[in-house]
Amino acid sequence: MIDYADFTPSWIDAARDRIADMAVTTPLVPSPHLSKLAGNEFLLKLEMTQPMGAFKLRGAANAILALEGDVGGVTCCSTGNHGRGVAYAARARGMRAIICMSSLVPQAKIDGIKALGAEVRIIGKSQDDAMAESLRLVEAEGLVEISPFDDPYVIAGQGTIGLELLDQCPSLKTVLVPLSGGGLAGGIAFAVKARRPDIRVIGISMDRGAAMHASLQAGNPVEVEEVPSLADSLGGGIGLDNRLSFPLCRDFLDDVLLVTEDEIYRAMQTIYYEDRMVCEGACVVGIAALQSGKLPKSDGPIATIITGRNIDMTVHADIMQGRDVTLGNTTIRGQAYAA
Ligand SMILES: *Cc1c(COP(=O)(O)O)cnc(C)c1O
Repeated sequence: MIDYADFTPSWIDAARDRIADMAVTTPLVPSPHLSKLAGNEFLLKLEMTQPMGAFKLRGAANAILALEGDVGGVTCCSTGNHGRGVAYAARARGMRAIICMSSLVPQAKIDGIKALGAEVRIIGKSQDDAMAESLRLVEAEGLVEISPFDDPYVIAGQGTIGLELLDQCPSLKTVLVPLSGGGLAGGIAFAVKARRPDIRVIGISMDRGAAMHASLQAGNPVEVEEVPSLADSLGGGIGLDNRLSFPLCRDFLDDVLLVTEDEIYRAMQTIYYEDRMVCEGACVVGIAALQSGKLPKSDGPIATIITGRNIDMTVHADIMQGRDVTLGNTTIRGQAYAA
């Protein structure tokens, strides 16, 4: 692992070249409905159009394509999408992959990973448990571990989104980034600020179990209890020994906002009914922040990263119909969509 001081913008330029044939340059499209609400152009960066349905392919592809020599295989812990990205990139390189996940991961995500030919292990009730198993495999089977967010190649891969945003919208003023372990937000903020320090980059998490938010407030990585959320991809800790994504978020994010489960529920309806897109909970937190009035005013175009589409379609159908959704011990009360 490199030192924080050695992580330079050139990592992100190198990632862009390395992943060009595996990850796609995603469209940045305006949402007329949300632009009206925001009083500014409101743009959606469609990372759900990556071939495995989420931006995580960028970081996973960059890490796996950068591996040198005789590597027996790769392993990772994941809330679902990182595992899918690793499985996809490993298959493309003809490499074995073992993905470790906790029992909180939705079945649809497990099925998606198996369909890519990777081996799946369900271990314990938290990301930390899954992480422990992944590290055990490094020792026992000589696999290379690819962290979902605290790895320079993974962060640089996610950061390529920042470079695309600057190319696609030179007048951009604000970027809203779904935030969990901070590989995405740290990478994008670092890429954007190196060229355009005037652009505000805001991380957004769910208000239940937001590990990076709690860590930033504490001034060092802290543990939070992991609870089920509609934004399941945003669950999990940041690692008490975090080396890169924590300092990147601390030094380059302008702010972190939190949204509730009710706000996420409604934002999933909005992007479906207004923009006709099927999205998982984690990717609509930027929209939830706008709709809830929590966003500071922007003096120009706003972009949010629509990070993934890998949702259980039964849950999606329930939300679109305004039905209640039960997650663990909590029930989110349903409500029919009204613009
Ligand atoms: C992983 C993930 C995030 C958060 O990314 P981090 O790098 O962990 O902050 C957001 N949305 C989706 C869909 C994800 O899979």
